[in-house]
Amino acid sequence: MAESRTVPEVDRAAAARRAVERRRARAAVKRDLTTRVVTPQRVLDRALGDADSVEGSMRVTDFLVSLPAIGAGKRDRILTELQISPVKRLGGLGVRQRDVLREWLDRRFPPLEPRGGRSRLLVLAGPTAVGKGTVAAHIREHNPEIHLSVSATTRAPRPGEIDGVHYYFVDDAEFDRLIADGELLEYAVVHNRSRYGTPRAPIDAALADGRTVLLEIDLQGARQVREAEPAATLIFLLPPSWDELVHRLVGRGTEDEEERARRLRTAKVELAAQNEFDHLIVNEDVATAAAEVVDLSSASAR
Ligand code: 5GP
Repeated sequence: MAESRTVPEVDRAAAARRAVERRRARAAVKRDLTTRVVTPQRVLDRALGDADSVEGSMRVTDFLVSLPAIGAGKRDRILTELQISPVKRLGGLGVRQRDVLREWLDRRFPPLEPRGGRSRLLVLAGPTAVGKGTVAAHIREHNPEIHLSVSATTRAPRPGEIDGVHYYFVDDAEFDRLIADGELLEYAVVHNRSRYGTPRAPIDAALADGRTVLLEIDLQGARQVREAEPAATLIFLLPPSWDELVHRLVGRGTEDEEERARRLRTAKVELAAQNEFDHLIVNEDVATAAAEVVDLSSASAR
């Protein structure tokens, strides 16, 4: 009898491995929360949908301190106010606790309000390396009915890039002229290097033809479009996880530590801009993300 109660060595090793994996997975979700790659409401939904999920097994204390700008002191005050015991796990919250936590989250981190009456001018932006160029290229290939804006840039063409298709490659003097003549809807210096701008005339012509126009530009440009065309539809592309974005940003590990840290800091600042947008789309898979952008274009009224 005594023997049958002993957990075999292999099972214990497997259980220990599983526990380590779950801790790692919980740590990854915490990083996603801190960097706003995932909304707290979505994590709560997953936890409540399946108490055995990674999210369900997360302590409410760990959940709260992972949220932007919530430290240990604030966390304790929130738990007292909401009357939730600090030993609770998200998946084990009672009905009242779920409701008060969700209400609190909606107040503290208001969900994006879909703004009505958006125009057919779509702007796709997001953090560096999230893959917006790949999503735009997919749309160029599969949705010729959408007019993909061709930007002007002062950077040199890369192998395979065609002038007039991927960019209008111009020199500094010509870029200055485009600005002076008011031919650009927006423009910015990107990555402290070259200038990029969106020619206004082809966009106006395509919109006048009743077509949808897609701009794939950086955050500074997206803000300028919002100023110039307040009805534009602003889309923010999110990575599937913070770890995946880090991988895409510094994956090859060819940068020194300082450059690596700089890129990660920039990515965090860029992710914090998502609330300025009308829609969030997760780039889990290029074809799906592209289809979601295209769906938004048919949903746009004007
Ligand atoms: P790349 O040089 O790799 O093609 O593009 C670098 C960055 O420039 C990308 O983040 C892209 O979104 C941004 N970009 C491309 N065209 C424009 C533009 O017309 N305006 C602005 N503001 N950014 C652009």
